Amino acid sequence: MNLPTKSSEQSANIERLVKCPSCSVSAVYGPSNLFRPFCSDRCKTGDLAAWASETYTVPVSDVTSDGEESVGDAADE
Ligand SMILES: [Zn+2]
Repeated sequence: MNLPTKSSEQSANIERLVKCPSCSVSAVYGPSNLFRPFCSDRCKTGDLAAWASETYTVPVSDVTSDGEESVGDAADE
């Protein structure tokens, strides 16, 4: 049988290089890089951790009822 061999040496070798958002190292932006656009797993998880921690700090609405409810209670007489 004659299998159509794709010349992967030429066409599929075009991979973009991007800068890792974490450490600014040139990383391959393509299927061969599982951590794209990061350069490594460490950079990816590190960025995710930072992102997650930022997300977790949800500003709790600390509404201090300071003199809002004491109006109707004192004027009961
Ligand atoms: Zn990196």
